[in-house]
Amino acid sequence: MYSTMQDVQLTVSRILKHGMTIHGKSIITTWTGEPEPQRRTFAEAGARAHQLANALRDELGVTGDQRIATLMWNNSEHVEAYFAIPSMGAVLHTLNLRLPPEQLVWIVNHAADRVVLVNGSLLPLLAPLLPHLPTIEHIVVAGPGDRSVLDGVAPRVHDYEELIAGRPTTYDWPELDERSAAAMCYTSGTTGDPKGVVYSHRSIYLHSMQVNMAESMGLTAKDTTLVVVPQFHVNAWGLPHATFMTGINMLMPDRFLQPAPLADMIEREKPTHAAAVPTIWQGLLAEVTANPRDLSSMSQVTIGGAACPPALMEAYDRLGVRLCHAWGMTETSPLGTMAHPPHGLTAEEEWPYRITQGRFPAGVEARLVGPAGEHLPWDGESAGELEVRGTWIAGSYFGGIDAEAIRPADKFSEDGWLKTGDVGVISPDGFLTLTDRAKDVIKSGGEWISSVELENAIMAHPEVAEAAVVAVPDEKWGERPLATVVLKEGATADYETLKAFLADEGGIAKWQLPERWAIVPAVPKTSVGKFDKKVIRRQYAEGELD
Ligand code: ADP
Repeated sequence: MYSTMQDVQLTVSRILKHGMTIHGKSIITTWTGEPEPQRRTFAEAGARAHQLANALRDELGVTGDQRIATLMWNNSEHVEAYFAIPSMGAVLHTLNLRLPPEQLVWIVNHAADRVVLVNGSLLPLLAPLLPHLPTIEHIVVAGPGDRSVLDGVAPRVHDYEELIAGRPTTYDWPELDERSAAAMCYTSGTTGDPKGVVYSHRSIYLHSMQVNMAESMGLTAKDTTLVVVPQFHVNAWGLPHATFMTGINMLMPDRFLQPAPLADMIEREKPTHAAAVPTIWQGLLAEVTANPRDLSSMSQVTIGGAACPPALMEAYDRLGVRLCHAWGMTETSPLGTMAHPPHGLTAEEEWPYRITQGRFPAGVEARLVGPAGEHLPWDGESAGELEVRGTWIAGSYFGGIDAEAIRPADKFSEDGWLKTGDVGVISPDGFLTLTDRAKDVIKSGGEWISSVELENAIMAHPEVAEAAVVAVPDEKWGERPLATVVLKEGATADYETLKAFLADEGGIAKWQLPERWAIVPAVPKTSVGKFDKKVIRRQYAEGELD
């Protein structure tokens, strides 16, 4: 029996239309470094998105599903591109501006991007790559920056404002198949080439609805979200789309991502929510400890992308800012879990739930798989690899233009589930606790040591700013932990003190205690601000950490 419901396609253009009309007065505030930030209503940004689409079609000749890359910070123009490009049927390809140049070149060529929208401040990064990017025909420059670096380059250069000026603020958006490609993002490729994840209109639409649900970020038009997570990192965790659905105001930091301007922004603009990886929150904490600012407008902060150390959560609790832990991946759009405790608990009872990775929303199915491929029970004890399935979870990777999609066996199960590479347990009421990434677990004499557990315990020491633990080869045990530690300014703790603290206060078993330590000035970070364990392992192998 068929249903009698209408079959309206879930497309990005519908999110745009809704946001700019129903929530036309909501505002995108972009930090400029000037005395006044730039402010644009959703109605204005939406009208400009229409003008951009007209310009891309009429002036640059964009047709069909051509890929339009963005090399941009978080700002209003980037949001305009987020809506214009997919709505006209083209594919938005967000480029991670922190990737090494050779990876950027590989990615642009693999996606065969035809146009790149770039912030003026990033031209010194783009210009030297252009001789290696034969598919790029047009460069559209937005915002301030020295444009002379583009003199003599092969692609045509346009100014964003001049390009859209005077163009119609309407566009007859095509009625697209909701399963067609809307946007793409490459994973950072810790091993081998980066892998392209291609989001559909449908996956973006459904994911945005989930982001807006009360048990996820649950914001409304009364809120302002500070979007620190870059728009090139999994669509800024879905926030630009989600905000247009419910009228949430956006505060965009542009290139001002250092702790001091972030603290200024928060104190001045009073966002009620923010989203970023733990290292951003660590940096901000150090900043406001040294130079106090009022962060208490942020009633909820979404923290994810890497495990949130419980000590960090406690420190923000003391500032009146509640961190809510979330887990996800580029392949999961990214919302996979969020850690809202069950209702009706005291603060003390909530704590053990808050430090888990959280619960899966209705759109995400999960299972734990053991070493022999067996499915493990949700008993809070059986540890296995997490596999997920759902409407906003990748089922394959982009194989290249005119090539088949690829489904590597280490990433997808035979029955189509995504293998996350994350190891953990799930409680009977569905709370996920990740103990490690499979590749970061320390295998010591047949037993496993969780690098994350050690890191959290070390970071609980009052003199420690950051700690990253990796496995290093050991003749007797196979592998042993190496702890790299960044001390707070003026701190004097030594290895013996830290080791004793782990045993006495951290509850770490004796055989798990690291015997190799290094005090370092900073933990190396990946292109999206996570601890870069690959680099630490290499530094150790090359004798730099002795
Ligand atoms: P990359 O692989 O480059 O880091 P992703 O942003 O897709 O790119 O990273 C996804 C991975 O980040 C997850 O598989 C997981 O290992 C880690 N991760 C994300 N959120 C959390 C979290 N809340 N706790 C622990 N690990 C997390």
